[in-house]
Formats: sequence, structure tokens, C-alpha cells
Amino acid sequence: MPERLIIIGSGPAGLTSAIYASRSKLEPLLFEGFQEGGIPGGQLMITNVVENFPGFPDGIHGSELMANIRQQAINHGTRTIMEDVTEVNLKTYPFEIKSMSGTVYTCNTLIIASGATARRLPLESEKKLWGKGISACAVCDGALPVFRNKELAVIGGGDTAVEEAIHLTQFGSKVYLIHRRDELRASKIMQKRVLTHPKVQILWNKTVDEFVGENQLRSLKLRDTITDEIMDLEIAGAFEAIGHNPNTKFLNGQLSLTDQGYIKTKPDSTQTSIDGVFAAGDVQDSKYRQAISAAGSGCMAAIEAERWMQERSGM
Ligand SMILES: Cc1cc2nc3c(=O)[nH]c(=O)nc-3n(C[C@H](O)[C@H](O)[C@H](O)COP(=O)(O)OP(=O)(O)OC[C@H]3O[C@@H](n4cnc5c(N)ncnc54)[C@H](O)[C@@H]3O)c2cc1C
Repeated sequence: MPERLIIIGSGPAGLTSAIYASRSKLEPLLFEGFQEGGIPGGQLMITNVVENFPGFPDGIHGSELMANIRQQAINHGTRTIMEDVTEVNLKTYPFEIKSMSGTVYTCNTLIIASGATARRLPLESEKKLWGKGISACAVCDGALPVFRNKELAVIGGGDTAVEEAIHLTQFGSKVYLIHRRDELRASKIMQKRVLTHPKVQILWNKTVDEFVGENQLRSLKLRDTITDEIMDLEIAGAFEAIGHNPNTKFLNGQLSLTDQGYIKTKPDSTQTSIDGVFAAGDVQDSKYRQAISAAGSGCMAAIEAERWMQERSGM
């Protein structure tokens, strides 16, 4: 017998869809990947305090929040498998889902909530100081006390980098935007905003050679891409805004994706290009990329999957 619902991903989107689906008696089976695109629990497992998830007035540690949501899903009847999904076959029905151990599962509906991976600079010093003044999400971490009234840096030159730099001006005393070229990739309107912002200084033609600090980031070693000169920049926080990779490799081109590689969903819906397959969270969202918006779309996906099955045959 096929599963009624399989969910791929154990971040806020996948686990929220599991809570809703299990309360609707769909007995979902959820894959918690640990190699492709992160670890069980998703991106919040690599951050410290989450201050903007409703219900926690004093904030909550990312891993504690995810452990709670996971337990809630299990308490309502979600079954979990700690294995990556390596392949899917969406050309057949019921859909086929193959996991790392080689087992093939079948399902009537599928929710893909495999998230996105923030690109990071491949430097040893970055790994060492990650979470100690380095983040990949200014909207998430910019308001933390450690960054208040301090000089901060954003690394990148696209729309996200510019948005993050402008966002950080609310908290930092000054924001440097470090870009490896001599012009921004961001849209003209965003460029104008950042170029005229009194608190933002753009450092053109610069790449980060090293993040410096012992237990907390203190400065950056920047290399000029034209002269090769090195300069030190003292800052309290660095935010990498060099893009995200949506975790969609296992789909092998079977669903329509956007130009940036995110799963395309119908407007106001989580329905993908294949009937019965839904996508929730960061894997389909290049715009908000927040835990609460991921959880919200997980709720939508579960409700839509249930209605889809009912409409199809009263399953
Ligand atoms: C450093 C950092 C700090 C952040 N801080 C905050 C914050 O304070 N507040 C906030 O609201 N948001 C924050 N975010 C953003 C937030 O983490 C994401 O928006 C949210 O986690 C997205 O949820 P998701 O469920 O869509 O995906 P994810 O959390 O990315 O989870 C996806 C899951 O899918 C699994 N997976 C992937 N591929 C497979 C596969 N093939 N098979 C099985 N499983 C698979 C992964 O292992 C992972 O568990 C932060 C992000 C980062 C990077």
C-alpha cells in the first residue's frame, strides 16, 4: 500500500506540515535528511538564539525550537526516517521515493520541504568564527545585542546583499558593503537606495581573505582584486549574502524550477507543476526565507495535500 503522504525535509516547513497532516490522520512519513542540504532540523540548527519566532518572548535556541516542533509532530503520529532521499520518480503514480539505503517508498501525495543552503565563503577562519559574529542572515540575526551600535559588514553585491545592508543600518553604527566587483548586480532602485544611504559605505573590488578573531569576530582581512593590496577592517559582525542553493538535486529536473533554481508553485498555493506534489518553505521561497514563513507554507501544503486527496477519490 502506498503511503498517503510523504514529506521530505525536517526543517520548520516539513515538520509543520507533518503536525497538520498527522492531526488530519494522514499518518505522514517524514524524511529527515542529514547529508543533502543540511542536518535534521534544518537551518535553525546552525544558529544560536531565534528571537523572531512567535511564542517565545525571551527567544529560544534554534536547536531547542526544532526539537520541540519535531516532538510535536511525533506526538501527533508522524513517523520519521533519518535518511536522505536520493531520487524521486514523479512520472509514475503513486509517486516513488528512493532513500539512501536503496529502499523505494510509494505515496499518494508528496510535500517537498528540503530547504535551501546558504552559500558560505570557503575559508577555515569562517568555519572557526561561524555564529561568533558571522551569519548568513541579517534579518534573522542583525538585531542581536552583540551587533547593536557597532560597525558591521555585508559581503555580496546582489539584491539580497543590498537589502541586508540597508536592514542592518537600523542596528549598526555603520555598515560596509564588501563587493568583489566595481558595480552592483542589484536592481537599479536598490542600488540607488544603498549608494545614497548615509550609513552605508561600499568597499569596491574587495574579497575577504580571512575572518580574524579568537572567540569572536574582530576584523576582516580584505584583498583588493585589482592591486592585491591587503587592508584590515575592524567590525563586530559580518553577514554573508552571496546567495542560496535550493536543495533540489534529488528531483532530477522533474519539477519546474525558477531561474534561480527554486521550485515553482502556483500563486497563493504550494501546488507544484505536478498534481499531488506540493512544495513548502525555503525550497520554493526566494523572498522571505524565514522560519515562520516556512512553517506557514508547511501548514498550507498539508491542507492542500489533504484536500487534493479528498477531491481525487475521497481517500
Ligand atoms: C544562520 C541562519 C540563521 C537564521 N536565523 C533565523 C532566525 O533567527 N529566524 C528565522 O525566522 N529564520 C532564521 N533563519 C532562516 C530559517 O532558518 C529558514 O528560513 C528556515 O529554516 C527554512 O525552513 P525549511 O523547513 O524550508 O528548510 P530548512 O530549515 O533548510 O530544512 C530543510 C531540511 O530538509 C532536509 N533535506 C534536504 N534535502 C533532503 C533530502 N534529499 N532528503 C531528506 N531531507 C533533506 C535538510 O536536512 C533539512 O533538515 C536563519 C537561517 C540561517 C542560515
